[in-house]
Amino acid sequence: MKFCLIGEKLSHSFSKVIHNLTGVEYSLVEVSKEALEKFVRSKDYNGFNVTIPYKKEIIKYLDGVSNDAISVGAVNTVVRRDNKTFGYNTDVSGFEYALKRKGVSLKGKNVIILGTGGASKAVEYVCIKQGAKTINFVSRSGKINYQNCYDLKNVDVIINATPIGMYPEIDSSPIDLSKFTNLSFVFDLIYNPQKTELLYQAEKLGVPYSNGLSMLVKQAVDAQEIWGLPKTENRKVEEIINKISKDKLNVVLTGMPGCGKTTIGKILAEKLNKEFIDLDCEITFAYKKSPKDIILSEGEEKFRKIESEVLKTVCNKNGVVIALGGGAFISETNRKVITLTGISFYVKRDIDKLITEDRPLSQISGVRELYNQRKSDYEKADFSVDNNDKPISCVKEIIEKYENFSY
Ligand code: NAP
Repeated sequence: MKFCLIGEKLSHSFSKVIHNLTGVEYSLVEVSKEALEKFVRSKDYNGFNVTIPYKKEIIKYLDGVSNDAISVGAVNTVVRRDNKTFGYNTDVSGFEYALKRKGVSLKGKNVIILGTGGASKAVEYVCIKQGAKTINFVSRSGKINYQNCYDLKNVDVIINATPIGMYPEIDSSPIDLSKFTNLSFVFDLIYNPQKTELLYQAEKLGVPYSNGLSMLVKQAVDAQEIWGLPKTENRKVEEIINKISKDKLNVVLTGMPGCGKTTIGKILAEKLNKEFIDLDCEITFAYKKSPKDIILSEGEEKFRKIESEVLKTVCNKNGVVIALGGGAFISETNRKVITLTGISFYVKRDIDKLITEDRPLSQISGVRELYNQRKSDYEKADFSVDNNDKPISCVKEIIEKYENFSY
């Protein structure tokens, strides 16, 4: 049995990983618009998924379409039976599952859906099915747009079905959440990064949220059932969500110069099977000068600019362990890039145990003064861990917190 995903550009798709984790062989097949009909008629695959931009377009080439998919106006799953093709929409069940696992019902809620593409229709279908009180679409070209949407009253739930905030443009958001005072839930269909700029805002406002990874995994396993493969139990669905989420998560270590970040980072990366990146080494590699030389010759301000640029590139790699230089976490911009793509740990070590050799800022300002300046920012990390004992003890503490972490 052969299965695949078709779409225009698929290099960043997670679908192959998801299907492979359930033991199903699956490939990614980029198909041009001109070749779409020929692909549907060919008998190469027993079933396939459909993504941007063919979810609507494909309907006219199919022999049958499910009621859900007709209502949504989009097909994301096709099965071949008796040489005929049938289309379904598992984005619907994927979205329903994602809401349910967060304990959210849309019944009686005033909902805003951002975007009017294929995915927004599946979301609207679920809103209607669950009995949302009002459903308003925000569109760049619609009556309700990104300028006047803030006039909508008592908005309970905002659902992003646009690509705004998706990798690599991770620092953009379609909307300013702080202008809505009644929010009880925010859903972003995007899953890369796991915490989009929109979800970052939700977190800051204390509004519960979900990204699109659980929806993606559930729509994939539901497609398998349509293809005649065994049902995947929810326990396994959660295992897959957790595995992908962790594999893509960066683990970032901050703390005073000489607190042991590099030593711990190396051991941690090996244990978590992730690549280890020492930010100062990356800077040296990119600029052919060490941080110490850049600070001494060009000043700290210039160095911080370079550091932020390199950090952004490194964070976008996804799924790496990063040991930061001692000052990198002081910048709010840097902290945001880190939190969008991973979790941070403040590695604490007693001041008298810190290594100051080759640390220009520790030598210039004095360790204690530097510590007093930076402590409150280090404490903004997601977790604090102690490194006054052996490094391996600290690594164990980090792994325990990492294992228990979920979005
Ligand atoms: P799409 O058909 O390309 O449409 C997205 C809509 O977003 C467009 O119709 C447009 O609406 C709006 N949009 C596009 N570019 C924009 C921009 N630069 N600024 C503001 N709005 C813009 O995509 P889709 O298939 O509906 O998917 C939407 C998002 O959901 C994507 O990020 C996709 O990866 C994600 N998705 C996730 C899952 C999942 O399982 N988690 C499933 C499906 C889709 P207007 O023209 O009306 O403004």
